[in-house]
Amino acid sequence: MYYNENTTIFLDGKWMKAKDASTDLYAQTMHYGSGVFEGIRSYATEDGAKVFKAKEHYERLLYSAEKMHIQLNYSVEELVELTYELLERNDLQNAYIRPLVYLGANMSLQPTDEVHVLLCSWSWDRYLGDDMLRVMTSSFQRPNPKSCHVEAKVTGHYTNSILATTEAKNKGYDEALLLDMNGNVAEGPGANFFFEKDDKLYTAPLGNILAGITRQTVLELAKELGIEVFEKFFTPDEVYNADGAFFTGTAAEVAGIESLDGKAFNLPWEETLGAALSAAYLNRVQKVEYRNFELV
Ligand code: PMP
Repeated sequence: MYYNENTTIFLDGKWMKAKDASTDLYAQTMHYGSGVFEGIRSYATEDGAKVFKAKEHYERLLYSAEKMHIQLNYSVEELVELTYELLERNDLQNAYIRPLVYLGANMSLQPTDEVHVLLCSWSWDRYLGDDMLRVMTSSFQRPNPKSCHVEAKVTGHYTNSILATTEAKNKGYDEALLLDMNGNVAEGPGANFFFEKDDKLYTAPLGNILAGITRQTVLELAKELGIEVFEKFFTPDEVYNADGAFFTGTAAEVAGIESLDGKAFNLPWEETLGAALSAAYLNRVQKVEYRNFELV
C-alpha cells in the first residue's frame, strides 16, 4: 500500500528506490521511540500539486527535533523544496507525505549524533472515511505534559494513540477521544476535537494537546465565517449535550462525529458548523475558494 518497486524516497541526501533502502536494527528510534515526524498532505490544484501549509509542518518538525535534542541539518525551505521534488519523482498529486527523522545505533538513553532523514509519500484517501464517526471516551489519557513534550510530534508518543484506537475499535466504535490528566477532553489519537453548542464552537486550549495545523486552519476559517470559537477546558459531560462535533487533522481533514459514548448529537451533520467548515477546508486546500468569483 505504501510503496511498490517504482517508489522513490529521499534518504539522507540521496534519492533511491524504497525497495532498496534499509535501516539499522540497533537504531535508537526503533528501540525507544525517540524519532520525530510529520504528516503532510498535498492536493491536486489548478496550479499543480500544492502541499498544504508545508512551511508550518516543517517548522513543527524542526521544533519537535529541537525538543528531542535531535540536530537536524535542514532548513524549512530545503525540506519544502525536497517535498515537491519527491512528489514529482513519484508522479503524485493527491498524496500523503511522511517525513521521519530517526536516530542511528545507540542503546544509551542519550541523544545520538547519527541523524537520518527520510521523506516518503504515497497516494492516500481520507484516513477516517466519509462515514460519521461513533466515538468513545478512551480509558487511556493523553500523556501528561510533565512526562514528555506533548506538543512535539514524537514517534514514541503514538503508542498511546495505538492503544486508544485499538481499544475503541475492539469495543465496536470507530475512534477514541482522550482526556488529559485532569479529566478534561484533550484530543483524538491523531486529530484535534471540536464540539458545537448553540452556534458556537469549543475546543481544548493548547498545552495538553498537539497544536494541530488543521485545528489552526479551522480557527482561521471560523473567524472568516464569523463563527465564534472558544479555546477552553471542558469535560465529556458537556459534549454529550452538544449539537455536533468533529475531528480535525491533516489526514482526517474535518471529520464529522455522530456520537460520543453512544449519545448522538442534536443536529444532523449537514446542518452543523462542522459541515460548513469541512466544505470550507476542502475548498481552501484545493485552492478552489475563489473559483466562483468573477472579476467584473
Ligand atoms: N493530535 C494528534 C495527537 C495528532 O497526531 C495529529 C496529527 N498530526 C493532530 C492532533 C492533528 O494535527 P494536524 O492538524 O497538524 O495534522
